[in-house]
Amino acid sequence: MEMIRKTIEKDEEYLRQISKEVSFKKDDYKKDIEKLEEFCNQTECFALAAVQIGIPKRIVYLKNTRLDVDLEDVSYNEARILINPKVTSRKGKTQYWEACLSCLDNMGLVTRPYEMTVEYYDIEGKKQKEKFEGFESTVLSHELDHLDGILHMDIAEKVIVMPREERKKYREKHPYKILSKTGDYERKSRIEINEKRLDNSLKIVKKLEKALNDFEKNQVDLHLLNQYYGSKDWLKEKEEIEKKPNPNIKAGVLSEDAVWNLMEDVSELKNTMKKIIEEKEQK
Ligand SMILES: [Zn+2]
Repeated sequence: MEMIRKTIEKDEEYLRQISKEVSFKKDDYKKDIEKLEEFCNQTECFALAAVQIGIPKRIVYLKNTRLDVDLEDVSYNEARILINPKVTSRKGKTQYWEACLSCLDNMGLVTRPYEMTVEYYDIEGKKQKEKFEGFESTVLSHELDHLDGILHMDIAEKVIVMPREERKKYREKHPYKILSKTGDYERKSRIEINEKRLDNSLKIVKKLEKALNDFEKNQVDLHLLNQYYGSKDWLKEKEEIEKKPNPNIKAGVLSEDAVWNLMEDVSELKNTMKKIIEEKEQK
């Protein structure tokens, strides 16, 4: 079975779409679930939203919603499936350094509801109502956002870049935190989230444009680029070019290729911004 993992590297627009409700009459949704299951069985993950593997339907697969079961234990699988889920209430607040199969090495500190009540359909098409508490609410909330094209980075208070191998240690030092078990959890709307993205994109465009200008003077702030591009390792590129890396030097030289990529990124970001504005105007 062929499955392609969608990531923000190439498929950000795809991941931004709003997934469609499953039609129990028309859709071969059991086949979709088989694909989700196969993917989760092979992958270190807490859970998966169908859109992440190229199925833009409102299906969530929960694999490991427990903090006491190691993520590395790939064989552990709760195999809980939620179709067309709808949240009817959210309470309390928790915080966790989240990562995402679709978001490369970006880790974000995200506040989520401590408790959610969710109505959904099970694999047999039967309507269910369930309360999700603690860490399972965090995991599910992250996946439900995917169904609306929202990524953890969009709502994170802080985003850092950290490879998968280092996350476990980081999370031991910065574990899952319950801030409150009661009280309303106010979810930001897609429009509010997009406004923040727009604002961030604008800031990044400005900084990248500055970096491009600075390129002419051979004074590119590579740390800045690393900060925004995590997975694209500009510092490594600098090492390759200069051969003699000096950690104290903040600015460096970029290759012609890197500059072209940068220019492409600026225009891509501008396109993204245009789309967000268009979506907003339609509403
Ligand atoms: Zn995710």
